[in-house]
Amino acid sequence: MVKQKDVYLAVDVGGTKILAALVDASGMVLRREKSPTPREGGAGTLHQALENVVAQLLRKASDITLDDLAAMGIGVPGVVDTDQGLVVVTPNMGLSNTRLGEYCEKTFRLTVAVANDCNLGILGEKWLGSARAADSAMGILVGTGIGGGFIQGSEVWQGARGAASEIGHIVMEIGGPLCGCGNRGCLEALASRTAIERDLREAVAAGRPTVLTELLEGDLDLIRSSILRQALERNDTLVTGVLRHASIVLGHACLTVDHLLDPEVIVLGGGVIDACSNFIVPIVQKIVADDCLAAGRDTSGVLVSSLGDDAVLLGATAMARLRIGENPFKKRFAVASSYPPIVRGKSDVYELGSKRFDADFYVTASGKAKRHRAEPYPTSLDGSRLLTPQHLSRPCRGGPHVLFIAMGAKSDLKLSDDACLYLRQRAIEWHALPNDEAVEAYNECADRKAALVHVG
Ligand SMILES: [Zn+2]
Repeated sequence: MVKQKDVYLAVDVGGTKILAALVDASGMVLRREKSPTPREGGAGTLHQALENVVAQLLRKASDITLDDLAAMGIGVPGVVDTDQGLVVVTPNMGLSNTRLGEYCEKTFRLTVAVANDCNLGILGEKWLGSARAADSAMGILVGTGIGGGFIQGSEVWQGARGAASEIGHIVMEIGGPLCGCGNRGCLEALASRTAIERDLREAVAAGRPTVLTELLEGDLDLIRSSILRQALERNDTLVTGVLRHASIVLGHACLTVDHLLDPEVIVLGGGVIDACSNFIVPIVQKIVADDCLAAGRDTSGVLVSSLGDDAVLLGATAMARLRIGENPFKKRFAVASSYPPIVRGKSDVYELGSKRFDADFYVTASGKAKRHRAEPYPTSLDGSRLLTPQHLSRPCRGGPHVLFIAMGAKSDLKLSDDACLYLRQRAIEWHALPNDEAVEAYNECADRKAALVHVG
């Protein structure tokens, strides 16, 4: 069998799930698999879970075996000594002080790069995501916690002990709320989803009215980011106030980043940002732009992660490639033959490889085509139908550089202002065209691309 050797194994070991993927040298995610991260047990249990998810992934990919893989990259939350492949400290996972790199090298017989997940996230964004045009970039991920990573050229800044860029633990309020790390008033204790949830629950307990009670049917145990977005859309006073405060704190943390590192761009990511970027990012941008000391910066310096969940996987791929002496930044995106062309057949049936669509569909940056089962397009005041950020999230998954939007036979679709903002924030160029032109332009484009085709 011919060794493919341009396929990489990328793994993101998160607090709740382990994501594993096969990624080619151009950054196309070929296959992916996930499984829950074991809550109990030590390193052995986690190793077993890791082996299982990789085995499952390879079973799915009948054409690729372990022997075909060129290298492996793996991201872990916490402090990682990348040179040694040593996980120094990782919260609640039983991997602290273990040589994960050595273990994976033995188990999978591959060259392995292990790194902090947020560092890999920004490496991914720099390779193929929103930060691709920048030389230096700071990534800030807002989720249950807040993590960060700083990159200069193709070098991730690790710090003397591999613990650099722990932006979640810069103190934003002396004596403020207690943080998971033991200190008080950390950014994470003020602006993470955990902090936002805490503030909302306290307010509800104090009798403040909110649509959350209705949206969650009274169960406020877990307030997902998508629920926060729905509450924002309904102008809920409580959620708007709490999120505004979190955004202001985050904005000032970004100001600190600017003063400390002066990166070309700051990339915000994570579930909260992804769901509520149109609300949060302009607040952050304004604070950064109003800076007196550096005379402000262009608001285009604050962006949103375009790779989303794939950022760590693609960063792990980039790091694995660097580990075997290849520079992923040299030839950023080779034309991938794996993009099947879109062919328009008779009576508005579209074909992509073996798939056929007679209703709205999209093709992602990884070349996967799917029916577009989104909410109906709302009607604007002038009678045209609006494409909103909710319609864009799936087609834009995995961070295309260019999105082609086929506006429908009647061309009665229009991008809402929010949709344009959504694309600009993620550095995605877009072309909204009549269907035949959009399909032709898509087929000819040699960049990392995606398409959204409105058939009706
Ligand atoms: Zn802290």
